Amino acid sequence: MHGLMMDTPLLISWIARHAERNFPNREIVSITMDNPSHRYTIGECIQRARKLANALDRLGLSRGDRIATLAWNDYRHLEAYYAIGGAGYVCHTINPRLFPEQIVFIVNHAEDKWVMTDPLFVPLLEKIAGSTPNVAGYIVMTDDAHMPKTTLRNAISYEALIADESDSYDWPDFDEREAVALCYTSGTTGNPKGVLYSHRSQVLHAYGSAMADALGLSNRDTMLPVVPLFHVNAWGVPYAALMVGAKLVFPGPKMGDGETLYRLMEAEKVTIAAGVPTVWLGLLQYMDKAGKRLTTVERTVIGGAAVPESMIRAFRDKHDVVVMQGWGMTEMSPLGTVNSLKASQLDLSPDEIIKIRVKAGRGIFGVEMRIVDDEQNELPWDGDKAGALQVRGPWVCSDYFKLEGSAGSHTGDGWFETGDVAKIDPDGFLQITDRTKDVIKSGGEWISSIDVENVAVGHPAVAEAAVIGVAHPKWTERPLLVIVRKEGEDVSRDELLAWLDGKIASWWIPDDVVFVDDIPHTATGKIKKIELRKQFADYRLPTA
Ligand code: AMP
Repeated sequence: MHGLMMDTPLLISWIARHAERNFPNREIVSITMDNPSHRYTIGECIQRARKLANALDRLGLSRGDRIATLAWNDYRHLEAYYAIGGAGYVCHTINPRLFPEQIVFIVNHAEDKWVMTDPLFVPLLEKIAGSTPNVAGYIVMTDDAHMPKTTLRNAISYEALIADESDSYDWPDFDEREAVALCYTSGTTGNPKGVLYSHRSQVLHAYGSAMADALGLSNRDTMLPVVPLFHVNAWGVPYAALMVGAKLVFPGPKMGDGETLYRLMEAEKVTIAAGVPTVWLGLLQYMDKAGKRLTTVERTVIGGAAVPESMIRAFRDKHDVVVMQGWGMTEMSPLGTVNSLKASQLDLSPDEIIKIRVKAGRGIFGVEMRIVDDEQNELPWDGDKAGALQVRGPWVCSDYFKLEGSAGSHTGDGWFETGDVAKIDPDGFLQITDRTKDVIKSGGEWISSIDVENVAVGHPAVAEAAVIGVAHPKWTERPLLVIVRKEGEDVSRDELLAWLDGKIASWWIPDDVVFVDDIPHTATGKIKKIELRKQFADYRLPTA
């Protein structure tokens, strides 16, 4: 027997309507290229999103068409999120730091119809426009006064596009399982893969992430997302924050600038921030040097990479800020775990609490986790046995875009293989111990070791190349290139680095090269990365 309850579709336009009705005066503050201090309200944001939705409808798009964004965190990007998704199109956020060839691949694979871009990325798009012929036009996220001269076809400024549009718009109703957003991840081997979020997954994720034991986000919070809007929807913050009516503060292109972040946090009375460890290292260093202390921030969510104990201690001891470590993935919208203490842990000593805080956290309702051995037997949550981590839940991807059934990313019984190796303790706290996937995470962003290896073995003197991540105090990990030279051939470290230059993104170039006689292999001939990582666990990079 079915229950007799309304089958109201979970659409992000509902979040927009709710936010506008209940929190119209809550502020959104942004730094943009054309305004260092833009300030308006949720009410104005949604009003402008409706104008943009009308403008997009006029472009002759069809339901489900992808509209790409290449932009930093600011209010126009937020408006784009709600206008594109709310109107029934798919907001495809692109990481502008990717190598141009990857952006070309992603735009073409996604079949983006229009691209919305910060003025900053116009030169990049001009360079690749010839290789992305299916893009009909470009919306430059600025006004006519700041519009750069451009050769991009059908380029128009955002403000000109929406200027004459009506601000009344009936958000369409449709199936909550329709796609709302698309984000490509390089956190897997091969080409970047598209994770296609649905309205339902994002609304549920917003509920889940706002819960008290997750981000604990409320109307009384002021949230500064330093995680980019182009990376997993800034961890879902744009949806969760408007759902509860939190004030939002966007640092625009100044995300990596400790001084700007500090100034924003103090001036806007930020209570919660979110970002990867590298960003916080910059902020902590700035505050140490300038003798500054955070006075309003209560907690900061740090994830995307393991959080060093020293960072948790610095925030706690110097700034009275609780670090809530989180673990998740692009494929998981991204939240899987958040580190919040259980009732039984509250009376532990500060040092015992730190031992818990260095773990990735415990699973929030909405994500089920299990760890398995090589034979797929489930392992106990004893804090000792480590296994491959698998997850499932309504905001975990069921496949990759246009790779349905062929990506090999899921188990036969429908769990998603995270590619992480982990232990789980009896309290449910997850500890990531290694990775089975062949990628390196530097400053919160992926470097494909295979791509670097492929270019390296192209050098005539190289017999075999392996790239592994090695600990780095600023970037968490940086690549180390391990080389076996061909017999009788010679090539130096600098020659190899010069060979890579220009063939891969500059930030993918390994920090060092080591020459070995032999690289360990599995029985099937694959490079044993786990063993290689162990072998170079104590390697000190010259940049460290
Ligand atoms: P992404 O899809 O780019 O968000 O990256 C997800 C991956 O980042 C995970 O599969 C982990 O390998 C890594 N990661 C995320 N959070 C953590 C964490 N708290 N500790 C260690 N690794 C993490």
